[in-house]
Amino acid sequence: MRTPLVAGNWKMNTTVPEAVALVDTMLNDLPFIQGVEKVVCPPFVSLDAVRQRVSGTSILVGAQDVYWEPKGAYTGEISVLMLQGMVDYVIVGHSERRQYFHESDQDVNRKARAALDGGLRVIVCVGENLAENELGHAESFVEAQVRAGLAGIETLDRLVIAYEPIWAIGTGRAATPENAGAIIGHIRGVVRQVASGPAADAMRILYGGSVTPDNFAAFMAHPEIDGGLVGGASLNADSFVTLTRQAAESTA
Ligand code: PEP
Repeated sequence: MRTPLVAGNWKMNTTVPEAVALVDTMLNDLPFIQGVEKVVCPPFVSLDAVRQRVSGTSILVGAQDVYWEPKGAYTGEISVLMLQGMVDYVIVGHSERRQYFHESDQDVNRKARAALDGGLRVIVCVGENLAENELGHAESFVEAQVRAGLAGIETLDRLVIAYEPIWAIGTGRAATPENAGAIIGHIRGVVRQVASGPAADAMRILYGGSVTPDNFAAFMAHPEIDGGLVGGASLNADSFVTLTRQAAESTA
């Protein structure tokens, strides 16, 4: 049985005081929801403040990105070394990073390996765009991203994959649980091929893309879907708490 995971990606939202206020509201309920891993991913500048607020609770903190070099002349970048002790998780390969900042599969792989080598847990995002989806290429596209993203990674126990079809992110047009579950099942099959042993069965694979309290229970009811990577709905404390509760109830 895989423990569900619900991660909130706050993206480039919230000032430091707003991030603290948001997490403070979540703290009223979130720590008491058991049987689900809860992660909040505020912007870099709020990581320390949020970490201090959740310290001693069951809420984990994630960064939204990381660079693979440990230090040096990489203006604006943040290294694994800087995140150690500050975060539990890091997201890599989010489609907005791939799309707007031209990150390649190789970049995503470098980031994932650096973060894992540094002891962090990693959420690797994959997902096809609308054109690929309409051509019926979603599985093969995502498979290539998974193979490239996981290249050279031997230990999968701190790795999570998030399947996030680009056309569903922030659009209000979520995938269906059946389609998302089928792609996630395919991803698990690919992971089984690249990693021997029980690692593929133990790995959490999340769905992301316009998740809301109205649709999430149906995603969580699908046996292949182990949780959600949530954008918009994670910026509202009530919504995020509800999603987390739904994930917990899915295993009850
Ligand atoms: C995301 O950006 O990871 C995401 C899933 O966003 P949203 O929930 O807003 O679609």
